[in-house]
Amino acid sequence: MSLLVTGSIGIDTVTTPCEVSKNCIGGSSVYFSMAASFFGPVRFVGVVGADCPFDLAQVFNGRPVDLAGLEVRRHSKTFRWWATYKDDMDHRTDRVKLGVLAEAPPKVPEAFKDSQLVFLANKTPALQMQLLDEIEKPLFVAADTMPRWIKGNRNELSELLKRIDCLIINVEEARLLVKQSNLVRAAEQILELGPSIVIVKKGESGSLMCLKDGNKFVLPAYMTTDVKDPTGAGDSFAGGFMGYLAQARKTDFDTLKTAVAYGTVVASFTIADFSLSGLTSVTRGDIDIRLGMLRKFTHF
Ligand code: AMP
Repeated sequence: MSLLVTGSIGIDTVTTPCEVSKNCIGGSSVYFSMAASFFGPVRFVGVVGADCPFDLAQVFNGRPVDLAGLEVRRHSKTFRWWATYKDDMDHRTDRVKLGVLAEAPPKVPEAFKDSQLVFLANKTPALQMQLLDEIEKPLFVAADTMPRWIKGNRNELSELLKRIDCLIINVEEARLLVKQSNLVRAAEQILELGPSIVIVKKGESGSLMCLKDGNKFVLPAYMTTDVKDPTGAGDSFAGGFMGYLAQARKTDFDTLKTAVAYGTVVASFTIADFSLSGLTSVTRGDIDIRLGMLRKFTHF
């Protein structure tokens, strides 16, 4: 099934308790695409300014990522993100310069308008809906959001939630969205707002998936001591999840559970190094070996 993503392309500066990585490539759609490309083709829609130091064709060289939806704006500035992680490597403070992300969204190429699976990475809900309007008949739409939009753009977000199948968010966002601290209840209340699937990412504690039909699934994170930079874990999780669904060509409960497991495993590779290095150094074979290990760790 065809898979389209739209989100940010970022110039990231990340500070962890041990190291600093300056001006490296990041952005939600970049992590997502790299992760999803292990499973099949990805249609990429994004925008950078003329100051972008990265050649995305080079970044995705040899991977099935179609960059026909990449726009370079001459007089705009690329999105920039600075993040500093606390000692626990789970919490971070950040600051952004939105640049081109504060402007009109990139155009969806004609050839991408028949996309069947769509991932709307973190942007204002209005921009996410604008993109969605361009897709003719999407079969499965998933989205991410963030506290800023939950607090400041609630009406638009409510509209978006009615138009998507799956919301993939973290614990803080889930609690904030429905003002409910119990995560299972929070997920159930989010389901009432529209989507038929909610996935709550719990960082090193794994993830929880709740479906409107009552089905539920929990999975721990992949056990690893190899954590250098958690940036992109959430977007890589989404990329692994959606990439696997596109490859499997179905979205029944068993397939969704395997997709969560693939998302979990791909994210565990992302956090092993800065920027995309954790992902670019592995193969689909490595991912499948780790999936087998995850199965072994969680079976009783
Ligand atoms: P994650 O760690 O999965 O939340 O992803 C972090 C990535 O998302 C970084 O590479 C950033 O460039 C990008 N990012 C962070 N904040 C935003 C934002 N407000 N809008 C779009 N992209 C963002």
